[in-house]
Amino acid sequence: MKSKSKEAIVIIGGGPAAMMLACTLDPILFDVTIVEKGKAIGRKFLVAGKGGFNLTHSEDIDKMIEKYEGPKSLLDSLSSFTNNDFRHWLSSIGIETYIGSSKRVFPVKGIKPIAVLRAIKKEIERKGITLLKETLWYGSFIENSSIQLLHKEKKISLKADKVIFALGGGSWKITGSDGCWLPHFKKNNVATLPFRPSNCAMCINWPENMKVHFGKPIKNIALTYNDTYIKGEMIVTKHGIEGSPAYALSYYVGNELESKKSITVFVDLKPSLSLEKVNSILSKSYKKISKLLRDELSLSSTAVALIKSATTREEFNDVKLLTHCIKKLPLSIIGLEKIDNAISTVGGIKSTAMDKHFELINFPNHYTIGEMINWNAPTGGYLLQGCFSMGYTLGKYLNKEHQI
Ligand SMILES: Cc1cc2nc3c(=O)[nH]c(=O)nc-3n(C[C@H](O)[C@H](O)[C@H](O)COP(=O)(O)OP(=O)(O)OC[C@H]3O[C@@H](n4cnc5c(N)ncnc54)[C@H](O)[C@@H]3O)c2cc1C
Repeated sequence: MKSKSKEAIVIIGGGPAAMMLACTLDPILFDVTIVEKGKAIGRKFLVAGKGGFNLTHSEDIDKMIEKYEGPKSLLDSLSSFTNNDFRHWLSSIGIETYIGSSKRVFPVKGIKPIAVLRAIKKEIERKGITLLKETLWYGSFIENSSIQLLHKEKKISLKADKVIFALGGGSWKITGSDGCWLPHFKKNNVATLPFRPSNCAMCINWPENMKVHFGKPIKNIALTYNDTYIKGEMIVTKHGIEGSPAYALSYYVGNELESKKSITVFVDLKPSLSLEKVNSILSKSYKKISKLLRDELSLSSTAVALIKSATTREEFNDVKLLTHCIKKLPLSIIGLEKIDNAISTVGGIKSTAMDKHFELINFPNHYTIGEMINWNAPTGGYLLQGCFSMGYTLGKYLNKEHQI
């Protein structure tokens, strides 16, 4: 097959979406440069590795896709580069993975996050890709087949037939993903939305009695908001609640908080027992209520304090009302934690600004991928999978499109 003459592709931003794109582009067709404003690429990827390093999730891809909210191009990319494809690709570069009890996918024991990053960087090197660090994109678009950048504060011009922006979201500024690029797009009439935290803690105005419990977990609970019910562990903090169920609900709660001062989520403190079962356990014993909660329902002192903080004395001493509280304890959420501490952000480039191949409608030959696009998914591997899938799918598309 014949192809056009070799083109210059400049990828701006050095996160997972950019790295995967660079690894997928055909070096015979393109001269590829990754431009990164920091001194190293993949810094947020390494931060993700500090907690549980969930590279992806193992659930059936159709079920997995249901957890994403975002443009069709993102959902299509997940179908064309699935969680299994991602695991095979990682294996092909020497990173074996395993499925944990949570169904999340991790590198096998002994492989540290830095080793995963090194393996990807080795692949980038093998492809002959140029890496230009300490180079900032400050708002220029392709003009006369080149793009203007700032390298160590000096203006430089790079040959560019296509530019792919992979600038990340707006949290964890220390990693370089500061979202400072957003006004440049807005100014150029590319539709954007302000950033908002997601996968983050939720704020509660705690009463005095909860202060001694700050930092303590309440295990085996479920949080509910509207139709979303998520089991896991909740941690009581100075500001509110943290933990997987809180993170997963934060996006939906954030949507509502745009127009409301507070919203109510519900805690099921005994998801393994039905309302009837809890009621019968509490009705059968004559022990003091607090002791009963601890001895018969194995609730921790933090869980008991939480019930007390949300109930009146009458409710606490009435078995029927108390049962309802244990199964559906209301918590008033007054906000989300500050954006810089959030695992991810929503906002950024709106889906209406681009076509089905991530190309900006107002700026042909300019594409956007990764967390800089407005989409949401829970933490636990979904975010990285989304970024890697977009990078891979765009790479394959550009390779194909280049063929005559
Ligand atoms: C604490 C934490 C834990 C996480 N854990 C997980 C997890 O376990 N599983 C999971 O799936 N996801 C996790 N994530 C989310 C995941 O890390 C991100 O979704 C992912 O890194 C986003 O990738 P990206 O390629 O879009 O951009 P980023 O990784 O954010 O990279 C963007 C890059 O662009 C560069 N850049 C920005 N502006 C400019 C500019 N103007 N010029 C040049 N360069 C620029 C930045 O310096 C940065 O290096 C976690 C995130 C955090 C913060």
